[in-house]
Amino acid sequence: MRMPQVNGRYIPNVKAPRTADNEEPAAERAQDFRPVDKGFTKEMAIAEANRCLDCKNPLCVQGCPVNINIPRFIEAIRAEEFGRGLDIIRESSMLPAVCGRVCPQENQCEGVCIMGKRSEPVAIGQLERFLGDQPELASKPAIAPKNGKKVAVVGSGPSGIACAGELARNGFDVTVFEAFFTGGGVLVYGIPEFRLPKAVVKREIDGLQELGVKFEYNSVVGRITDADELFEQGFDAIYIATGAGLPKLLNIPGENLPNVFFANEYLTRVNLMKANKFPEYDTPTKHGKNVVVFGGGNVAMDAVRTAKRLGAERAIIAYRRTEDEMPARRAELHHAKAEGVEVLPLVSPLEFIAGEDGTVCAVRVQKMELGEPDADGRRRPVPIEGAIEDIPCDVAISAIGTNANPFAKMIGDIKLNKWGYIEADEEGRTSDPRIWAGGDIVTGAATVILAMGAGKIAAASITKHIG
Ligand code: FAD
Ligand code: SF4
Repeated sequence: MRMPQVNGRYIPNVKAPRTADNEEPAAERAQDFRPVDKGFTKEMAIAEANRCLDCKNPLCVQGCPVNINIPRFIEAIRAEEFGRGLDIIRESSMLPAVCGRVCPQENQCEGVCIMGKRSEPVAIGQLERFLGDQPELASKPAIAPKNGKKVAVVGSGPSGIACAGELARNGFDVTVFEAFFTGGGVLVYGIPEFRLPKAVVKREIDGLQELGVKFEYNSVVGRITDADELFEQGFDAIYIATGAGLPKLLNIPGENLPNVFFANEYLTRVNLMKANKFPEYDTPTKHGKNVVVFGGGNVAMDAVRTAKRLGAERAIIAYRRTEDEMPARRAELHHAKAEGVEVLPLVSPLEFIAGEDGTVCAVRVQKMELGEPDADGRRRPVPIEGAIEDIPCDVAISAIGTNANPFAKMIGDIKLNKWGYIEADEEGRTSDPRIWAGGDIVTGAATVILAMGAGKIAAASITKHIG
Protein backbone atom coordinates (compact mmCIF):
# COMPACT_ATOMS: atom_id res chain seq x y z
CA MET A 1 0.00 0.00 0.00
CA ARG A 2 1.42 3.40 -1.04
CA MET A 3 1.30 6.68 0.83
CA PRO A 4 -1.56 8.74 -0.78
CA GLN A 5 0.02 11.79 -2.42
CA VAL A 6 -0.98 14.62 -4.77
CA ASN A 7 1.89 16.61 -6.35
CA GLY A 8 4.28 15.11 -3.80
CA ARG A 9 2.08 16.23 -0.87
CA TYR A 10 0.66 13.73 1.59
CA ILE A 11 -3.14 13.49 1.43
CA PRO A 12 -4.68 11.69 4.43
CA ASN A 13 -7.33 9.10 3.76
CA VAL A 14 -10.01 10.89 5.82
CA LYS A 15 -12.87 8.76 4.50
CA ALA A 16 -11.38 5.46 5.67
CA PRO A 17 -12.94 4.06 8.85
CA ARG A 18 -10.67 3.35 11.82
CA THR A 19 -8.95 -0.01 11.33
CA ALA A 20 -10.68 -2.54 13.56
CA ASP A 21 -8.67 -4.32 16.27
CA ASN A 22 -7.37 -7.75 15.28
CA GLU A 23 -9.07 -9.73 18.06
CA GLU A 24 -9.52 -13.41 18.78
CA PRO A 25 -13.24 -14.41 18.87
CA ALA A 26 -14.56 -13.79 22.41
CA ALA A 27 -16.01 -17.28 23.03
CA GLU A 28 -12.73 -18.98 22.03
CA ARG A 29 -10.29 -16.66 23.78
CA ALA A 30 -12.21 -16.87 27.08
CA GLN A 31 -11.24 -20.57 27.25
CA ASP A 32 -7.53 -19.91 27.79
CA PHE A 33 -4.90 -17.20 28.38
CA ARG A 34 -4.02 -16.47 24.74
CA PRO A 35 -3.60 -12.76 23.87
CA VAL A 36 -7.00 -11.18 23.16
CA ASP A 37 -5.58 -8.82 20.55
CA LYS A 38 -3.21 -10.07 17.86
CA GLY A 39 -2.10 -6.56 16.86
CA PHE A 40 -2.02 -4.91 13.44
CA THR A 41 -0.44 -6.52 10.40
CA LYS A 42 1.85 -4.32 8.30
CA GLU A 43 -1.00 -3.64 5.85
CA MET A 44 -3.36 -2.66 8.68
CA ALA A 45 -0.73 -0.39 10.24
CA ILE A 46 -0.05 1.45 6.99
CA ALA A 47 -3.78 1.83 6.24
CA GLU A 48 -4.29 3.30 9.72
CA ALA A 49 -1.24 5.57 9.42
CA ASN A 50 -2.78 6.94 6.22
CA ARG A 51 -5.74 8.23 8.29
CA CYS A 52 -3.56 10.59 10.34
CA LEU A 53 -4.08 14.24 9.39
CA ASP A 54 -0.44 15.09 10.21
CA CYS A 55 -1.80 18.09 12.14
CA LYS A 56 0.17 21.34 12.41
CA ASN A 57 -0.81 21.50 16.07
CA PRO A 58 -0.98 17.80 16.98
CA LEU A 59 -3.11 17.58 20.12
CA CYS A 60 -2.20 13.89 20.39
CA VAL A 61 1.33 14.87 21.49
CA GLN A 62 -0.03 17.08 24.27
CA GLY A 63 -2.40 14.28 25.28
CA CYS A 64 0.48 11.82 25.72
CA PRO A 65 1.85 11.93 29.29
CA VAL A 66 5.42 11.66 27.95
CA ASN A 67 4.80 13.72 24.77
CA ILE A 68 5.79 11.09 22.21
CA ASN A 69 6.12 12.72 18.78
CA ILE A 70 3.14 10.78 17.45
CA PRO A 71 2.74 12.32 13.97
CA ARG A 72 6.44 11.75 13.30
CA PHE A 73 6.34 8.05 14.14
CA ILE A 74 3.09 7.66 12.17
CA GLU A 75 4.77 9.31 9.19
CA ALA A 76 7.60 6.77 9.50
CA ILE A 77 5.04 3.95 9.36
CA ARG A 78 3.59 5.49 6.20
CA ALA A 79 7.09 5.54 4.72
CA GLU A 80 7.52 1.89 5.84
CA GLU A 81 10.58 2.94 7.85
CA PHE A 82 9.63 1.03 10.96
CA GLY A 83 13.04 1.19 12.65
CA ARG A 84 13.01 4.97 12.34
CA GLY A 85 9.49 5.06 13.78
CA LEU A 86 10.59 3.01 16.78
CA ASP A 87 13.60 5.27 17.35
CA ILE A 88 11.22 8.27 17.44
CA ILE A 89 9.07 6.62 20.12
CA ARG A 90 12.12 5.58 22.12
CA GLU A 91 13.19 9.23 22.43
CA SER A 92 10.28 9.55 24.90
CA SER A 93 9.13 6.07 25.91
CA MET A 94 11.18 3.04 26.88
CA LEU A 95 8.32 0.53 26.72
CA PRO A 96 6.33 0.94 23.48
CA ALA A 97 5.32 -2.74 23.24
CA VAL A 98 3.92 -2.55 26.78
CA CYS A 99 2.37 0.92 26.60
CA GLY A 100 0.87 0.26 23.15
CA ARG A 101 -1.05 -2.59 24.79
CA VAL A 102 -2.05 -1.22 28.20
CA CYS A 103 -2.06 2.61 28.10
CA PRO A 104 -5.51 4.21 28.42
CA GLN A 105 -5.08 5.88 25.02
CA GLU A 106 -8.79 6.76 24.87
CA ASN A 107 -8.21 9.24 27.73
CA GLN A 108 -4.82 10.42 26.45
CA CYS A 109 -3.54 10.77 22.87
CA GLU A 110 -6.59 9.23 21.17
CA GLY A 111 -8.97 11.14 23.43
CA VAL A 112 -7.83 14.44 21.90
CA CYS A 113 -6.87 13.26 18.39
CA ILE A 114 -8.25 15.76 15.86
CA MET A 115 -9.36 12.95 13.56
CA GLY A 116 -11.69 11.92 16.40
CA LYS A 117 -13.68 15.12 15.89
CA ARG A 118 -14.37 14.19 12.25
CA SER A 119 -14.97 10.48 12.75
CA GLU A 120 -12.93 8.14 14.95
CA PRO A 121 -9.47 8.88 16.37
CA VAL A 122 -6.39 7.35 14.78
CA ALA A 123 -5.58 4.01 16.49
CA ILE A 124 -2.37 5.44 17.98
CA GLY A 125 -1.97 2.70 20.59
CA GLN A 126 -2.14 -0.06 18.00
CA LEU A 127 0.42 1.75 15.83
CA GLU A 128 2.76 2.17 18.81
CA ARG A 129 2.42 -1.52 19.61
CA PHE A 130 3.03 -2.45 15.95
CA LEU A 131 6.43 -0.72 16.12
CA GLY A 132 7.16 -1.82 19.69
CA ASP A 133 6.76 -5.46 18.65
CA GLN A 134 9.69 -5.13 16.21
CA PRO A 135 12.49 -4.15 18.64
CA GLU A 136 15.13 -5.69 16.38
CA LEU A 137 14.58 -2.80 13.94
CA ALA A 138 15.51 -0.05 16.42
CA SER A 139 18.93 1.60 16.31
CA LYS A 140 21.35 0.51 19.01
CA PRO A 141 21.27 3.21 21.71
CA ALA A 142 24.41 5.24 22.31
CA ILE A 143 26.05 4.18 25.59
CA ALA A 144 28.19 6.67 27.49
CA PRO A 145 31.56 5.51 28.83
CA LYS A 146 31.45 4.12 32.39
CA ASN A 147 31.47 6.95 34.93
CA GLY A 148 32.48 4.80 37.93
CA LYS A 149 29.23 5.56 39.82
CA LYS A 150 26.91 2.90 41.22
CA VAL A 151 23.11 3.17 41.55
CA ALA A 152 20.74 0.79 43.32
CA VAL A 153 17.22 0.62 41.88
CA VAL A 154 14.67 -0.86 44.28
CA GLY A 155 11.79 -2.52 42.40
CA SER A 156 11.70 -3.80 38.82
CA GLY A 157 8.29 -2.49 37.70
CA PRO A 158 8.03 -0.07 34.77
CA SER A 159 9.48 2.78 36.84
CA GLY A 160 12.51 0.81 38.00
CA ILE A 161 13.06 -0.63 34.51
CA ALA A 162 12.95 2.80 32.86
CA CYS A 163 15.31 4.35 35.41
CA ALA A 164 17.78 1.44 35.23
CA GLY A 165 17.86 1.52 31.41
CA GLU A 166 18.48 5.26 31.22
CA LEU A 167 21.18 5.13 33.89
CA ALA A 168 22.98 2.21 32.22
CA ARG A 169 23.02 4.16 28.95
CA ASN A 170 24.38 7.16 30.85
CA GLY A 171 27.41 5.14 32.02
CA PHE A 172 26.28 4.09 35.52
CA ASP A 173 26.81 0.69 37.09
CA VAL A 174 23.21 -0.29 37.96
CA THR A 175 21.85 -3.05 40.20
CA VAL A 176 18.09 -3.67 40.47
CA PHE A 177 16.88 -5.21 43.74
CA GLU A 178 13.56 -7.02 43.35
CA ALA A 179 11.49 -8.73 46.05
CA PHE A 180 10.02 -11.32 43.64
CA PHE A 181 11.94 -14.08 41.87
CA THR A 182 11.48 -12.35 38.51
CA GLY A 183 11.37 -8.83 37.08
CA GLY A 184 8.58 -6.63 35.74
CA GLY A 185 6.46 -5.68 38.78
CA VAL A 186 2.76 -5.37 38.01
CA LEU A 187 3.51 -6.06 34.36
CA VAL A 188 4.17 -9.69 35.30
CA TYR A 189 2.30 -10.31 38.55
CA GLY A 190 -0.79 -8.14 37.94
CA ILE A 191 -1.65 -7.72 34.27
CA PRO A 192 -2.65 -11.12 32.83
CA GLU A 193 -1.02 -12.89 29.90
CA PHE A 194 -4.13 -12.37 27.74
CA ARG A 195 -3.54 -8.57 27.88
CA LEU A 196 0.24 -8.41 28.13
CA PRO A 197 2.26 -11.52 27.23
CA LYS A 198 5.08 -12.11 29.72
CA ALA A 199 7.49 -12.61 26.80
CA VAL A 200 7.10 -8.90 25.98
CA VAL A 201 8.20 -7.93 29.50
CA LYS A 202 11.01 -10.49 29.52
CA ARG A 203 12.36 -8.93 26.33
CA GLU A 204 12.66 -5.59 28.15
CA ILE A 205 14.44 -7.19 31.14
CA ASP A 206 16.78 -9.10 28.79
CA GLY A 207 17.55 -5.81 27.02
CA LEU A 208 18.57 -4.24 30.34
CA GLN A 209 20.84 -7.18 31.13
CA GLU A 210 22.49 -6.77 27.73
CA LEU A 211 23.18 -3.15 28.76
CA GLY A 212 24.98 -4.51 31.84
CA VAL A 213 22.20 -3.95 34.44
CA LYS A 214 22.45 -6.55 37.23
CA PHE A 215 19.35 -8.04 38.88
CA GLU A 216 19.22 -9.24 42.50
CA TYR A 217 15.98 -11.22 42.82
CA ASN A 218 14.30 -12.41 46.06
CA SER A 219 15.83 -9.31 47.60
CA VAL A 220 13.46 -7.27 49.77
CA VAL A 221 15.17 -3.97 50.50
CA GLY A 222 14.07 -2.85 53.95
CA ARG A 223 14.28 -6.43 55.23
CA ILE A 224 17.41 -8.06 53.79
CA THR A 225 19.28 -4.79 53.42
CA ASP A 226 18.48 -1.06 53.70
CA ALA A 227 19.63 2.28 52.33
CA ASP A 228 22.47 2.72 54.84
CA GLU A 229 23.88 -0.71 53.98
CA LEU A 230 23.58 -0.02 50.25
CA PHE A 231 25.58 3.20 50.68
CA GLU A 232 28.15 1.30 52.77
CA GLN A 233 28.39 -1.23 49.90
CA GLY A 234 29.47 1.63 47.62
CA PHE A 235 26.23 2.71 45.95
CA ASP A 236 26.23 6.45 45.24
CA ALA A 237 22.47 6.83 44.78
CA ILE A 238 19.23 4.88 45.23
CA TYR A 239 16.04 5.01 43.17
CA ILE A 240 13.00 3.63 45.00
CA ALA A 241 10.21 2.30 42.77
CA THR A 242 8.43 -0.16 45.01
CA GLY A 243 4.88 0.47 43.78
CA ALA A 244 1.57 0.55 45.61
CA GLY A 245 0.77 -3.12 46.02
CA LEU A 246 -0.80 -3.25 49.49
CA PRO A 247 -4.50 -4.16 49.11
CA LYS A 248 -7.15 -1.93 50.70
CA LEU A 249 -9.36 -3.83 53.14
CA LEU A 250 -13.15 -3.85 52.81
CA ASN A 251 -13.30 -4.12 56.61
CA ILE A 252 -16.45 -6.22 56.61
CA PRO A 253 -17.23 -9.54 58.38
CA GLY A 254 -16.02 -12.67 56.62
CA GLU A 255 -13.17 -10.97 54.76
CA ASN A 256 -10.78 -13.66 56.05
CA LEU A 257 -12.90 -16.64 54.94
CA PRO A 258 -11.27 -19.21 52.67
CA ASN A 259 -11.80 -18.37 48.97
CA VAL A 260 -12.19 -14.63 49.63
CA PHE A 261 -9.17 -13.09 47.87
CA PHE A 262 -7.60 -9.72 47.29
CA ALA A 263 -7.29 -9.20 43.54
CA ASN A 264 -3.51 -8.78 43.67
CA GLU A 265 -3.10 -12.10 45.49
CA TYR A 266 -5.51 -13.89 43.13
CA LEU A 267 -3.78 -12.46 40.05
CA THR A 268 -0.28 -13.12 41.40
CA ARG A 269 -1.14 -16.76 42.03
CA VAL A 270 -2.20 -17.21 38.42
CA ASN A 271 0.13 -14.83 36.55
CA LEU A 272 3.34 -15.40 38.46
CA MET A 273 2.93 -18.73 40.24
CA LYS A 274 0.98 -20.36 37.35
CA ALA A 275 -1.76 -21.65 39.67
CA ASN A 276 -3.86 -22.33 36.56
CA LYS A 277 -1.36 -25.14 35.81
CA PHE A 278 -1.42 -26.71 39.30
CA PRO A 279 -0.20 -29.45 40.04
CA GLU A 280 2.40 -28.97 37.27
CA TYR A 281 3.30 -25.85 39.28
CA ASP A 282 3.29 -25.84 43.12
CA THR A 283 0.78 -23.06 43.87
CA PRO A 284 -2.94 -23.95 43.81
CA THR A 285 -5.93 -21.64 43.64
CA LYS A 286 -9.68 -22.14 43.85
CA HIS A 287 -11.30 -22.50 40.44
CA GLY A 288 -14.66 -20.95 41.37
CA LYS A 289 -17.88 -21.72 39.49
CA ASN A 290 -19.65 -18.61 40.84
CA VAL A 291 -17.21 -15.74 41.20
CA VAL A 292 -18.03 -12.21 42.36
CA VAL A 293 -15.45 -9.44 42.00
CA PHE A 294 -15.95 -6.12 43.81
CA GLY A 295 -14.51 -3.05 42.07
CA GLY A 296 -14.79 -1.23 38.75
CA GLY A 297 -11.20 -0.61 37.65
CA ASN A 298 -8.70 -2.43 35.43
CA VAL A 299 -7.68 -4.66 38.32
CA ALA A 300 -11.27 -5.84 38.82
CA MET A 301 -11.58 -6.52 35.06
CA ASP A 302 -8.35 -8.52 35.05
CA ALA A 303 -9.52 -10.57 38.04
CA VAL A 304 -12.98 -11.35 36.68
CA ARG A 305 -11.67 -12.27 33.22
CA THR A 306 -9.07 -14.51 34.86
CA ALA A 307 -11.84 -16.21 36.86
CA LYS A 308 -13.72 -16.81 33.60
CA ARG A 309 -10.63 -18.44 32.12
CA LEU A 310 -10.31 -20.65 35.21
CA GLY A 311 -13.75 -22.07 34.40
CA ALA A 312 -16.28 -19.82 36.17
CA GLU A 313 -19.83 -20.40 34.92
CA ARG A 314 -20.90 -17.06 36.41
CA ALA A 315 -18.27 -14.33 36.70
CA ILE A 316 -19.75 -11.11 38.05
CA ILE A 317 -18.34 -7.60 38.41
CA ALA A 318 -20.17 -5.98 41.32
CA TYR A 319 -19.73 -2.21 41.50
CA ARG A 320 -21.21 0.40 43.82
CA ARG A 321 -21.86 2.88 41.03
CA THR A 322 -22.97 2.18 37.43
CA GLU A 323 -21.02 1.13 34.33
CA ASP A 324 -20.71 4.79 33.27
CA GLU A 325 -18.68 5.63 36.38
CA MET A 326 -16.37 2.61 36.19
CA PRO A 327 -12.73 3.73 36.03
CA ALA A 328 -11.71 0.67 33.94
CA ARG A 329 -10.74 1.19 30.33
CA ARG A 330 -13.83 0.98 28.11
CA ALA A 331 -12.10 -1.61 25.94
CA GLU A 332 -11.53 -3.87 28.97
CA LEU A 333 -15.18 -3.61 30.03
CA HIS A 334 -16.28 -4.32 26.46
CA HIS A 335 -13.93 -7.33 26.22
CA ALA A 336 -15.09 -8.66 29.59
CA LYS A 337 -18.76 -8.46 28.64
CA ALA A 338 -18.09 -10.08 25.25
CA GLU A 339 -16.42 -12.96 27.13
CA GLY A 340 -19.56 -13.51 29.21
CA VAL A 341 -18.79 -11.45 32.34
CA GLU A 342 -21.95 -10.09 34.02
CA VAL A 343 -22.04 -6.57 35.43
CA LEU A 344 -24.00 -6.01 38.63
CA PRO A 345 -24.14 -2.25 39.22
CA LEU A 346 -25.13 -0.33 42.37
CA VAL A 347 -24.23 -2.86 45.05
CA SER A 348 -21.81 -2.65 47.95
CA PRO A 349 -20.63 -5.69 49.99
CA LEU A 350 -21.77 -5.95 53.62
CA GLU A 351 -20.59 -9.42 54.65
CA PHE A 352 -19.10 -12.62 53.27
CA ILE A 353 -21.11 -15.63 54.47
CA ALA A 354 -19.60 -19.06 55.22
CA GLY A 355 -21.24 -22.30 54.09
CA GLU A 356 -21.25 -25.59 56.03
CA ASP A 357 -17.66 -26.36 54.99
CA GLY A 358 -16.46 -23.00 56.37
CA THR A 359 -15.61 -21.48 52.97
CA VAL A 360 -17.44 -18.54 51.42
CA CYS A 361 -20.84 -19.47 49.95
CA ALA A 362 -22.45 -16.06 49.48
CA VAL A 363 -21.92 -12.35 49.80
CA ARG A 364 -24.53 -10.06 51.33
CA VAL A 365 -24.80 -6.78 49.43
CA GLN A 366 -26.46 -3.45 50.03
CA LYS A 367 -28.24 -2.06 46.97
CA MET A 368 -27.38 1.54 46.15
CA GLU A 369 -28.68 4.43 44.08
CA LEU A 370 -26.79 7.42 42.71
CA GLY A 371 -26.98 10.65 44.69
CA GLU A 372 -25.24 14.02 44.31
CA PRO A 373 -21.79 14.28 42.64
CA ASP A 374 -18.81 14.03 45.03
CA ALA A 375 -15.46 15.90 44.95
CA ASP A 376 -14.28 14.15 41.74
CA GLY A 377 -17.56 14.89 39.96
CA ARG A 378 -18.87 11.31 39.97
CA ARG A 379 -22.33 10.77 41.49
CA ARG A 380 -22.04 9.36 44.99
CA PRO A 381 -23.60 5.94 45.65
CA VAL A 382 -26.21 6.09 48.43
CA PRO A 383 -27.67 2.98 50.17
CA ILE A 384 -31.35 2.20 49.51
CA GLU A 385 -32.77 1.51 52.94
CA GLY A 386 -33.71 -2.13 53.52
CA ALA A 387 -32.57 -3.24 50.03
CA ILE A 388 -30.24 -6.10 50.95
CA GLU A 389 -29.59 -9.25 48.93
CA ASP A 390 -27.42 -12.40 49.14
CA ILE A 391 -25.48 -13.40 46.03
CA PRO A 392 -24.30 -17.04 46.00
CA CYS A 393 -20.59 -17.47 45.25
CA ASP A 394 -17.75 -19.91 45.87
CA VAL A 395 -15.01 -17.32 45.21
CA ALA A 396 -15.17 -13.62 46.08
CA ILE A 397 -12.47 -11.15 45.08
CA SER A 398 -11.93 -7.64 46.40
CA ALA A 399 -10.44 -5.17 43.90
CA ILE A 400 -11.28 -1.85 45.53
CA GLY A 401 -7.77 -0.36 45.34
CA THR A 402 -4.34 -0.47 46.92
CA ASN A 403 -2.15 1.51 49.30
CA ALA A 404 1.54 2.36 49.45
CA ASN A 405 3.88 -0.57 49.74
CA PRO A 406 4.71 -0.53 53.50
CA PHE A 407 8.42 -1.28 52.98
CA ALA A 408 9.05 2.32 51.88
CA LYS A 409 9.56 3.49 55.46
CA MET A 410 11.96 0.62 56.20
CA ILE A 411 14.23 1.30 53.23
CA GLY A 412 15.64 4.59 54.46
CA ASP A 413 15.00 7.65 56.59
CA ILE A 414 13.01 9.61 54.01
CA LYS A 415 9.92 11.75 54.32
CA LEU A 416 6.58 10.07 53.63
CA ASN A 417 3.17 11.73 53.36
CA LYS A 418 0.31 10.84 55.70
CA TRP A 419 -0.77 7.93 53.48
CA GLY A 420 2.71 6.37 53.49
CA TYR A 421 3.73 7.45 49.97
CA ILE A 422 7.21 8.88 49.48
CA GLU A 423 7.43 12.67 49.12
CA ALA A 424 9.46 13.53 46.03
CA ASP A 425 9.87 16.71 43.96
CA GLU A 426 9.35 17.00 40.20
CA GLU A 427 12.80 15.45 39.58
CA GLY A 428 12.01 12.54 41.91
CA ARG A 429 14.32 13.82 44.70
CA THR A 430 13.34 12.80 48.23
CA SER A 431 14.25 14.39 51.58
CA ASP A 432 17.60 12.49 51.41
CA PRO A 433 19.77 14.03 48.64
CA ARG A 434 21.17 10.58 47.74
CA ILE A 435 17.71 8.95 47.31
CA TRP A 436 15.23 9.41 44.46
CA ALA A 437 11.78 7.83 44.15
CA GLY A 438 9.04 7.53 41.52
CA GLY A 439 6.12 5.56 40.13
CA ASP A 440 3.16 4.37 42.20
CA ILE A 441 5.09 4.68 45.51
CA VAL A 442 5.07 8.46 44.97
CA THR A 443 1.83 9.08 43.04
CA GLY A 444 -0.37 6.31 44.40
CA ALA A 445 -1.76 3.67 42.02
CA ALA A 446 -1.52 5.26 38.55
CA THR A 447 -0.46 4.05 35.11
CA VAL A 448 2.45 2.30 33.43
CA ILE A 449 3.35 5.33 31.31
CA LEU A 450 3.46 7.69 34.30
CA ALA A 451 5.59 5.23 36.30
CA MET A 452 7.92 4.84 33.32
CA GLY A 453 8.10 8.61 32.80
CA ALA A 454 9.01 9.15 36.46
CA GLY A 455 11.87 6.63 36.15
CA LYS A 456 13.22 8.48 33.12
CA ILE A 457 13.03 11.88 34.82
CA ALA A 458 14.76 10.55 37.96
CA ALA A 459 17.53 9.00 35.85
CA ALA A 460 18.19 12.41 34.26
CA SER A 461 18.31 14.01 37.72
CA ILE A 462 20.64 11.32 39.12
CA THR A 463 22.89 11.82 36.09
CA LYS A 464 22.91 15.59 36.70
CA HIS A 465 23.64 15.39 40.43
CA ILE A 466 25.74 12.22 40.81
CA GLY A 467 27.12 11.37 37.36
P1 FAD B 1 5.16 -1.82 40.30
O1 FAD B 1 4.82 -2.19 38.91
O2 FAD B 1 4.19 -2.12 41.38
O3 FAD B 1 6.55 -2.49 40.65
C1 FAD B 1 7.09 -2.41 41.94
C2 FAD B 1 8.09 -3.54 42.12
O4 FAD B 1 8.81 -3.32 43.32
C3 FAD B 1 7.43 -4.91 42.26
O5 FAD B 1 8.07 -5.82 41.39
C4 FAD B 1 7.67 -5.28 43.72
O6 FAD B 1 7.82 -6.69 43.91
C5 FAD B 1 8.97 -4.55 44.00
N1 FAD B 1 9.18 -4.24 45.41
C6 FAD B 1 8.28 -3.74 46.30
N2 FAD B 1 8.87 -3.54 47.50
C7 FAD B 1 10.16 -3.93 47.36
C8 FAD B 1 11.28 -3.96 48.26
N3 FAD B 1 11.16 -3.53 49.51
N4 FAD B 1 12.46 -4.44 47.81
C9 FAD B 1 12.59 -4.87 46.52
N5 FAD B 1 11.55 -4.86 45.63
C10 FAD B 1 10.36 -4.38 46.05
N6 FAD B 1 -1.73 0.68 34.24
C11 FAD B 1 -1.95 1.00 32.95
O7 FAD B 1 -1.38 1.98 32.47
N7 FAD B 1 -2.77 0.25 32.16
C12 FAD B 1 -3.37 -0.87 32.62
O8 FAD B 1 -4.10 -1.52 31.87
C13 FAD B 1 -3.14 -1.26 33.97
N8 FAD B 1 -3.67 -2.41 34.46
C14 FAD B 1 -3.36 -2.81 35.73
C15 FAD B 1 -3.83 -4.05 36.17
C16 FAD B 1 -3.49 -4.50 37.44
C17 FAD B 1 -3.98 -5.85 37.90
C18 FAD B 1 -2.72 -3.65 38.29
C19 FAD B 1 -2.38 -4.12 39.69
C20 FAD B 1 -2.26 -2.43 37.86
C21 FAD B 1 -2.56 -2.00 36.57
N9 FAD B 1 -2.08 -0.79 36.07
C22 FAD B 1 -2.30 -0.44 34.77
C23 FAD B 1 -1.25 0.11 36.90
C24 FAD B 1 0.23 -0.04 36.58
O9 FAD B 1 0.56 -1.39 36.40
C25 FAD B 1 1.07 0.59 37.69
O10 FAD B 1 0.72 1.97 37.78
C26 FAD B 1 2.57 0.45 37.42
O11 FAD B 1 2.94 -0.90 37.29
C27 FAD B 1 3.39 1.09 38.54
O12 FAD B 1 4.74 0.86 38.29
P2 FAD B 1 5.85 0.91 39.43
O13 FAD B 1 7.14 0.59 38.76
O14 FAD B 1 5.72 2.16 40.20
O15 FAD B 1 5.46 -0.25 40.45
FE1 SF4 C 1 -2.63 12.44 13.60
FE2 SF4 C 1 -4.63 12.61 15.47
FE3 SF4 C 1 -2.15 13.40 16.08
FE4 SF4 C 1 -3.59 14.85 14.33
S1 SF4 C 1 -4.05 14.57 16.50
S2 SF4 C 1 -1.40 14.28 14.16
S3 SF4 C 1 -4.75 13.19 13.32
S4 SF4 C 1 -2.78 11.27 15.51
